[in-house]
Parts: sequence; structure tokens; C-alpha cells
Amino acid sequence: MIKVTKKELVFNEASNQRLLILYTGGTIGMKLNETNELVSFNFDQFLELMPELSCFNSNFTLFSFDKLIDSANMKPAHWLKMAVIIGEEYENYDGFVILQGTDTMAYSASALSFLLQGLSKPIIFTGAQLPIGAIRNDARNNIISSIEIALSKDGNQAMIQEVAVFFDDTLLRGNRCRKSQTNHLDAFESENYPVLATAGVSLEYNSTRLLRSGSKFRQFFELNEKVIVVKLFPGIRSSDIACLLNSGNVDAVILETYGAGNATTDEDFINVLKIFIIDGGLIVNVSQCYGGRVMQKVYQTGNKLDEIGVISGQDMTTEAALTKVMFVIQQHNKENWKKEIMKDYSGELTI
Ligand code: ASP
Repeated sequence: MIKVTKKELVFNEASNQRLLILYTGGTIGMKLNETNELVSFNFDQFLELMPELSCFNSNFTLFSFDKLIDSANMKPAHWLKMAVIIGEEYENYDGFVILQGTDTMAYSASALSFLLQGLSKPIIFTGAQLPIGAIRNDARNNIISSIEIALSKDGNQAMIQEVAVFFDDTLLRGNRCRKSQTNHLDAFESENYPVLATAGVSLEYNSTRLLRSGSKFRQFFELNEKVIVVKLFPGIRSSDIACLLNSGNVDAVILETYGAGNATTDEDFINVLKIFIIDGGLIVNVSQCYGGRVMQKVYQTGNKLDEIGVISGQDMTTEAALTKVMFVIQQHNKENWKKEIMKDYSGELTI
């Protein structure tokens, strides 16, 4: 059970804007304790560490996981909890900023883009490479810019109406980005979709590339967790893959292949995949390359996968494909899995 505590952070009588900040953990919220160790700051210290919040023309409410986590410990249950909180509070706020560790942020942002659809409000994830309690840090800038973006308007509407990730000076589509740096402050990239906004002297929006769903807000609170990611490598043994796929605990596989979607044509390997699909399993092909797309029919090594019914993940990231498959196979009947995977839900793929 993931417990969350709510606290009214800033009450600004002069403003009718309301922003919800959800704090889940990660480096962003750490500070040094008396013995010089990095520990998560406590909920009550938020305003002390971020006094700038009082300068915004907005009210702020903070929701915080009682047990703050390193995002390496993030599970689908945490995504569902985030979706429940935002789903329940959707009408009460103008925007949502989620503070989380960077390691699995792209997975969380992708998951939320499927669990919460038809958004007309922003959900901005941010984190930091250097904790807010450090003298030199990127946490403060990332939080402040994320809040500004979440409060930005396009006429009467919210400027951002999708799940996005803000980091360093760029806003990226959540289900298109991935963490690409352990060291630099620009830790995220999005090879297959342009930057949504840049925070320089002013905030510059890439207006024609922002998502406008046009449909009604819908929320979903279930995912199928029997999905695994298998990364191909030279020498991969079909017997190992058979053990995994025949365990009875796997409904779907995200297969990270080479280049444009190519895999070994080793007969035993192909047979293991074929039997898994015949028995009702789903396999989605994504590329180990960051840019470009899967085209299964170009090489014989991709065509073999096509022939046995592996579905092309097109230009989806692994993070988007994994969370989309968890969503699709929970919400839809088997006959529709392929059609649903190929479809664009929230800007995660280019058709
Ligand atoms: N391990 C940390 C986390 O993902 C790293 C970070 O916050 O950037 O929670």
C-alpha cells in the first residue's frame, strides 16, 4: 500500500490558479544531514527549501509519498498511485508537476501517458542530477521552470496538454524521451520527436508539435505486469529465452533488436518465439538504436520476425513500448492487441 500525505503549501488569495506538486523521491529532494550523508528532505521542509513558490501567481498543494523512493524502486503500483491521485484531483487543479528520480522517469512518464488520456492539462515530470540541498544544483531550476511551464497558457487553455519531462532547459514528450546521461545536466533526449519547449531567456514553445488530443479526459487504473524486456546480443541462447517464455508468467515480450528491427535467424531461437506467439503471447519489436524506426521487412533477419507474427514497435522507445503493452493487454481482448499496439495513443509513435 503506497501512502500519500497532502499539504496545502502556498495559499495565494489573489490567484485562482492551482497547481498540484507530487513528490515521490529521487536525488532532486535530497540534502546533506548532520553527518554529511545525502538523505531525502522531509515534507515539511519543502517551502523552506523552495521559498520561490510564494512568488508565483498560484496556489500550491503538495502531495508526497510517505515513503520517498529512489526511482530504481519504482513499480507499476507507483504509476497507478500517481494516476489515481491526478485522476481524482484532475478537476481541482490547473496543472501537475511530479518530482521523481531520473533513473526511471521516462518509464513513469510513458505509463502516465497511457493511464491518463485526453488531457487538457499539463503533467510535467522533473528531477535533478544534483540535489536541492547542494550549493550547486539543477533541482531548483528544474522545479521552477516546470512550474512556469505547467502554469503557461495558450489563450484560455493550458499551453501543455500532455505528459512531458522537463530537464535542464528542455521540455520533451514523456513517452518519447529516455535518460541518456549519468553525468551531464541535460540528462534526457528524444531522438524521434522534437523538443516541445526550450527554457532560455524566455520559454519558447514548439507550438505545432504540442499534443492536442481533442477527446474527453479518461483515466485507467490497471496494468498487466506480465511483460518482460529482452535485449538481443550476439550469442543469446534460445534455451535461456525458452525458459523465460515458457515459465507461464509472461504474456508479452518487448524484444530489443538490432538496427531496423533485425534479429538472429537461428532456427531454434525463431522457433521459441514462434511457439510463444502461437500459444497466445505477444512480441513487440523495438530497436536498440535511439533514432529511426523498426522496419521488419527490409532485411531477412527482420522479415523472419515479421513472418512469425512479431509486431513492429515502429519508432517507439523501449519505455513507451513496455508501458503501452502493459496497458493494452490489460484493457483489450487478444484479437485487438496488434491493432491497439500499432495505434498512436498519446503521441508515442509516428504512423
Ligand atoms: N537514483 C536516483 C533516482 O532515480 C537518481 C536520480 O534521482 O536522478 O531516484
